[in-house]
Amino acid sequence: MADDIFVTRPYLPPLDEFRELLGEIWDSGTLTNCGPFHQKLEAALCEYLCVPHISLFNNATIALVVALRALGIKGEVITTPYSFVATSHAILWSECTPVFVDVEAQSLNLAPAQIAAAITPKTAAILPVHCYGHPADVDAIDAIGGRHGIPVIYDAAHAFGVDCHCGSVLTHGDLSVLSFHATKVFNTFEGGAIVSKTPEMKHYIDQLKNFGHDGEVSVIETGINGKMSEINAAFGLLQLCHVDDAISKRAAIDARYRRELADIRGLQCLGDTGQMRQNHAYFPIRVKATFPLSRDALYNFMKERGVHPRRYFYPLISDFPMYRHFPSADPTRFPNAVSGAAEILCLPIYPDLDDASLTRIIGLLRDAAATGA
Ligand SMILES: *Cc1c(COP(=O)(O)O)cnc(C)c1O
Repeated sequence: MADDIFVTRPYLPPLDEFRELLGEIWDSGTLTNCGPFHQKLEAALCEYLCVPHISLFNNATIALVVALRALGIKGEVITTPYSFVATSHAILWSECTPVFVDVEAQSLNLAPAQIAAAITPKTAAILPVHCYGHPADVDAIDAIGGRHGIPVIYDAAHAFGVDCHCGSVLTHGDLSVLSFHATKVFNTFEGGAIVSKTPEMKHYIDQLKNFGHDGEVSVIETGINGKMSEINAAFGLLQLCHVDDAISKRAAIDARYRRELADIRGLQCLGDTGQMRQNHAYFPIRVKATFPLSRDALYNFMKERGVHPRRYFYPLISDFPMYRHFPSADPTRFPNAVSGAAEILCLPIYPDLDDASLTRIIGLLRDAAATGA
């Protein structure tokens, strides 16, 4: 029996290259507190991502909480039920109220018209997600924020290195939050970052992630410890040397899936094959009613045969117990999110997924398609 195949596998650079950097950390004795690797990684990421300012974090969830704090958000935050639970947890940790609105049927990103319809005098922020690394409708969403004077914070956890029509998608909104978790396209084991637009905002965010310290003896805010260590930062610098190669391997897998799944009735690949820079973080397919198996039956069919796709994002965030009671969590209010949660399956995609494994995954999908024929 062949080895099991999981939805993702962390990208790791050659261990010898990392040993060298560890040697430098041992020599310097600087382990954290914005040391040399931290500074180098911030500069390198600004250049790679084409963004003006970046603040590194220990993870994206703390970064989301700090982003809300940095903008002084209190009240209602309009967001998507179709995401990883951390998006909404950051809102609750900030003692704000999530207001769930529907996503677009195709992109599964927040629908601008639904955002506009949900704005009240209590709306304090909009927190969209670039789901699967596919850019949200940033122009429309930024315009709504601008019109009402409401900040927009993008959860860009999936969107490392992604461009929209006007360059990096990370330059939209007031702040964007990246995740460098092991399962993401660019990882530092654990890690995250906030992209900001002005040096003042970056400085304030850097204070908030460092206990609110302002110099040696002054504390100006109830900050938190959100700092990235030197080990993670050094690892990130190394990852950055390999990330283009990792993304092009993902692109080849994406292209083969699209090519070989195109003629299977009832399976639809999400995203597009346009020219803008993508990161191929996920490979979501929609299992439609015309496919002989339901999404869940297909999921089980594959799992029983050693391939483990994931149902991102099922259940919806609004279904979890700490969200269910909010008036906006009523599923009849977001039919597109509900159908995404019922029909989407994310297939395995990661740089080291080899041709034979891909052949096996596609073969299973063909077998499943034939069960009803
Ligand atoms: C992974 C993820 C997060 C959380 O990132 P961490 O770095 O693990 O805290 C937040 N939002 C989304 C959409 C994610 O996928």
